[in-house]
Amino acid sequence: MGYEKTADTELTDRIVKPLLDWYDQGRRILPWREEPTSYHVWLSEIMLQQTRVEAVKPYYDRFLQALPDIESLAAVEEEHLLKLWEGLGYYNRARNLKKAAQIVVEEYEGRMPEEREALLSLPGIGSYTAGAIASIAFGKVYPAVDGNVLRILARLRVDDRDILDAKVKRAVEEELIRVMPKDRPGDFNQALMELGATVCIPNGAPRCESCPWEAFCMAKQEEKTAEFPKKAKKKPRRIEERTILVIQDADRIALRKRPDRGLLAGMYEFPSLDGHCEERQVASYLRELGLSPIRIKELPPAKHIFTHKEWHMIGYLVRVDELSAMETGEKAQTLVFVEPEKTRSAYPIPSAFAVYAEQVEMVRTNRKK
Ligand code: SF4
Repeated sequence: MGYEKTADTELTDRIVKPLLDWYDQGRRILPWREEPTSYHVWLSEIMLQQTRVEAVKPYYDRFLQALPDIESLAAVEEEHLLKLWEGLGYYNRARNLKKAAQIVVEEYEGRMPEEREALLSLPGIGSYTAGAIASIAFGKVYPAVDGNVLRILARLRVDDRDILDAKVKRAVEEELIRVMPKDRPGDFNQALMELGATVCIPNGAPRCESCPWEAFCMAKQEEKTAEFPKKAKKKPRRIEERTILVIQDADRIALRKRPDRGLLAGMYEFPSLDGHCEERQVASYLRELGLSPIRIKELPPAKHIFTHKEWHMIGYLVRVDELSAMETGEKAQTLVFVEPEKTRSAYPIPSAFAVYAEQVEMVRTNRKK
């Protein structure tokens, strides 16, 4: 791409070289950078959404050991996949990985497509991930713009556009396509990611003294780094109150499979009631189910934050005579009765219930004594 002498060229000259020099001198060693195949880049980018690099590393290694290539991902049993993902949250990301791998196997002979449009047509791959795969694995000149990149560029130019606005993101993508270096598009995108993760950070003051753009960054010059980026106010998350029941008899606990669509689709959870219930309401609910509670003990409260809602939970550990008393009842159709040991191996419980899953651990420990 021959650049004309335009404002873009000026921007290119000013930002690209210092950024790449800075990246070359101090880039982090990360497992997915060692052999940046399309599968490795794809998997790491999906895992890194909403999760820190250090937290992702062990998951990434374990996942690749179990599923070393796109074919093995396409063929994996869903429960095994969800176990490999357990703890990372956002389980639809894992399901989409598998769905996309199946399409790659069926329609592209197992080779990831190289063009951005084809990548964008795969489940779970948005413009950022498509740009990352196309540029890093295939050397294509596509930007990978996420909130980090938008933040850095907003500060660099004291750009007061709302970075949560999709139109702004598309405009920045267009601008970057024009200034990206044709010979190192993947490194350019990774350098921007690195700058956002380590220097021009989202929380707390940016570390401008380590930034390759310090000399001409407008937010730095005008002492306005705290004022950028601009974001329109988000709607507050909806709060849902729930009462979680860890119901056990001498051998088993009760779990319920969530619906196949929607939040935490297909995962196992503890039975629960809407609202924050008192002990007597729990006891009466259990009797309706045909269960005889021997003991009901209050568990600690817990909170879990999803993108659009928060669960504010309280919980009870319920010891009953026999879970099988419920096995013939209609409500029992939605429940499974599981030996505590199996919750680890075969029944993936989302991290939203971590506080209550610990109670299962305690039961398990007690059984071993
Ligand atoms: S100089 Fe500071 S505010 Fe500007 S891009 Fe660099 S780290 Fe961010």
